Amino acid sequence: MLPYTDEQKMIKEMVSKLAKKEIEPLIPELDVKGEGPGEVRNILIEHGLLRLPLPQEYGGIDADCTTIALVVEELAKVDSGISMDVFGAGTFVFFLKNFGTEEQKKKFYPMLEAGKLGAFCLTEPGYGSDAANIITKAVRKDDHYVVNGTKTMASNGPLSEYYLLYARTGPGERARGISCMLFEKVPGASASKHFDKLGFRTNPTSELYFEDVKVPVDCVLGKEGEGWKTLIFGGGAMRAFGASSQALGNAQGAMEYAIRYAKERQTFGVPLIQHQAIQFMFAEMGINIEAARSLHFRTLQMIDGGNYSQTEYELLTSSTKAFVCDMAMKVTTDAVQILGSYGVMNEYPIAKRMRDAKVNQIFDGTSQIQKIIVGRALSKLY
Ligand SMILES: Cc1cc2nc3c(=O)[nH]c(=O)nc-3n(C[C@H](O)[C@H](O)[C@H](O)COP(=O)(O)OP(=O)(O)OC[C@H]3O[C@@H](n4cnc5c(N)ncnc54)[C@H](O)[C@@H]3O)c2cc1C
Repeated sequence: MLPYTDEQKMIKEMVSKLAKKEIEPLIPELDVKGEGPGEVRNILIEHGLLRLPLPQEYGGIDADCTTIALVVEELAKVDSGISMDVFGAGTFVFFLKNFGTEEQKKKFYPMLEAGKLGAFCLTEPGYGSDAANIITKAVRKDDHYVVNGTKTMASNGPLSEYYLLYARTGPGERARGISCMLFEKVPGASASKHFDKLGFRTNPTSELYFEDVKVPVDCVLGKEGEGWKTLIFGGGAMRAFGASSQALGNAQGAMEYAIRYAKERQTFGVPLIQHQAIQFMFAEMGINIEAARSLHFRTLQMIDGGNYSQTEYELLTSSTKAFVCDMAMKVTTDAVQILGSYGVMNEYPIAKRMRDAKVNQIFDGTSQIQKIIVGRALSKLY
């Protein structure tokens, strides 16, 4: 096991048991429905998992990125979508701790403590990877901004009671003039119905509309016009404790299931696992999962330790996101292959894992975008 603290080991074991016993049996039906986590959300709230990153006075343990990551990973071992609420809570608290004022913390920590959900609103219908070109506007008028625009692909969009939103507050091309804002749902903000999607069906995704939404000027996180800085820093951490942890848990869960299956399934008179070609597939899965786990842990420790250059931060967070998520796509696809026809049947849990792995290669910056960031970082370093 990685050198986790005693507290982290305890949390990991607790979440693992909870996920297997209380959550896993609910997943097949939730996946078919594709509406969200249903009862699972209450289980997560009851066990305090959404409060973990909060300070103690708000019922949390000030959990660092490594701790949030292991909770997300343990949940994703049974289903990636249901880990989205922990990922979300970790995200909002990370932004508040790093960019929030005391007033902003006092306003939003109690909402997070109560398990209220928020949406991270960056992507727009015309701009996903090219996020610096977003067109949502926040125009300042006296003591408030008026926000107008459409955001899309917002996880937990239909259920959100507050928004972390990127909008243009000033002139300037691309990243210049973009601000990061955190505000409660107010009149003028609304959501579409959740989308019907391939993977992550246990978490609802929707469009969000902001029509003449009036928000106070003190909703800006960090400085006005410097939202891009919050995105580079916060986005890097999200990739490490969010998408990468989900992909890692998903891949581990897929490999374990496929091994158990291959011990039972007989072909040519012997269990499938006795064929060397199959053993090699498992060996590659195991090697890649362990390599991914080490890189992932190193990146999380770098973030929590706080000792890094900007270039190193971008290099490691993006390398981790690309490597772990691409690895999970390969592992889950191979797991489907090992199950043969049963692998593509939705009755078996492996097809869902392959669908979920594809989502992890796309959200939070696609694998291609991570490689662009890694390439840029390398050319700065050498
Ligand atoms: C389930 C789900 C949940 C999501 N949740 C959120 C959320 O909560 N909040 C939020 O803001 N967004 C969210 N997203 C959006 C996600 O972050 C974007 O989908 C992602 O950044 C890619 O943007 P896009 O879909 O517009 O693809 P595009 O930007 O249109 O890219 C299309 C393809 O082209 C590739 N590509 C683009 N530019 C280049 C280039 N320069 N070089 C090489 N290849 C390139 C991309 O890698 C991709 O494969 C979510 C997405 C999904 C699927």
